[in-house]
Amino acid sequence: MLKRVLIANRGEIALRILRACRELGLEVVCVYSEADAQAPFLKLADRTVCIGPGTASESYLNIPRIIAAAEVTGADSIHPGYGFLAENAHFAEVCKESNFEFIGPSHEAMALLGDKISCKQLARKAKVPVFPGSDGAIEETDEAIEVAEKIGFPVIVKAAAGGGGRGMRIVRSQNELAKAIAQAQQEAKAAFGNGAVYVEKFLEHARHVEVQVIGDKHGNAVHLYERDCSTQRRHQKLIEEAPGPHIDPRKRDDVCKSAARLVKSAKYAGAATVEFLMDDKQHFYLLEVNTRVQVEHPVTELITGVDIVKTGIRVAGGEELPFRQRDIKANGHAMEFRINAEDWKRSFAPCPGPIERFDVPGGPGVRVDTHVVAGYRVPPNYDSMIAKLLIHAEDRDACIARARRALAEFQVEPLKTTISLHRELLDNPSFQKGGMDIHYLERLLANG
Ligand code: ADP
Repeated sequence: MLKRVLIANRGEIALRILRACRELGLEVVCVYSEADAQAPFLKLADRTVCIGPGTASESYLNIPRIIAAAEVTGADSIHPGYGFLAENAHFAEVCKESNFEFIGPSHEAMALLGDKISCKQLARKAKVPVFPGSDGAIEETDEAIEVAEKIGFPVIVKAAAGGGGRGMRIVRSQNELAKAIAQAQQEAKAAFGNGAVYVEKFLEHARHVEVQVIGDKHGNAVHLYERDCSTQRRHQKLIEEAPGPHIDPRKRDDVCKSAARLVKSAKYAGAATVEFLMDDKQHFYLLEVNTRVQVEHPVTELITGVDIVKTGIRVAGGEELPFRQRDIKANGHAMEFRINAEDWKRSFAPCPGPIERFDVPGGPGVRVDTHVVAGYRVPPNYDSMIAKLLIHAEDRDACIARARRALAEFQVEPLKTTISLHRELLDNPSFQKGGMDIHYLERLLANG
């Protein structure tokens, strides 16, 4: 069993992990950058270590400094959270070589699922639906043309190592293909050091449906049902909910079991999310696997009652999953609203700075995950998410009513936030009917 966990992250997720550790009776080491030195939750840690300046590459992304902090504080394990080094297989490997338990999958499983080409090949073997397209990396334009003609335009060129929407090109006709491949290869090489790209069918109208899974080191893996994350802008999710509205029960069963199968076939231990796109006939296709705890994991915690972060720590310590698939029951409806310090009316421009008033909502079915308090200054260096508002209620309509009430209580001043956007979205007929697709928010914003 683990004793002392170093949290290699910041913000709300660092606090979320700290709380889980406390409930498990574990000691906590928090690292922080100079830009985060005033973060209020640092005083809850047993030990804190400043690992460098605000620039992420010199602190939260700096592997030697994090390993050194773990060594001097006598930590036995490292939790990466999400973002930063969470999906860096090299970091997971360095942790292992330095005798720290990495709280997440083995670096082998991470590399296998993290590379989109090898992940897709594994999915085919595990009978998980993938988009039609090339079998592996595309070397020659001729090869891409052949594939594209077989599956039909539009197609999408994607980077094997892709992330954050980079290294992708949508291609609508044959004469655009060669250029798109060259550009995607170049972009991927520059961003990820790996220029491998592949081609697959591009789906015009889709919903983002993802499945939460968790596995242990004893070969068990279960799913914790799906989430719909179609309310997004430039691939940034804003609202996530579970269960996915209007998903046929047989399709739900299918997509959830597929996700568990895929993760099991990779001998995966820890929490993962298998992302799919679903078309209007509810056919689903694998998008990618996120080999870490995700921002929106509490949505699933609310409907299943499973503490995903605590369970992830326990399986890293070698314990078996404390439940089987048949023990997992979904109950009611949950939504997450990401509260970002952004001026959404001005292209979501980040709004860092001091927060004078921070009144969080409460009452039945309301959970707020945040590291922020009144008097906190949002640093300009990082992601602009300052809180996650989570709502749980008996059904989707009750969840919307409760969310409306909670968002009205949520007061943040003087920064601009996405609270006002969420209030508008709750009144939007598409959202109310659960008829979202991944582009509806962008269409709404474009139409004012
Ligand atoms: P990243 O790792 O960069 O986030 P993903 O594979 O998750 O890349 O894709 C990001 C987004 O690109 C998806 O959420 C979806 O909007 C779009 N996308 C990716 N592949 C397809 C596809 N085959 N058809 C339609 N849209 C796609």
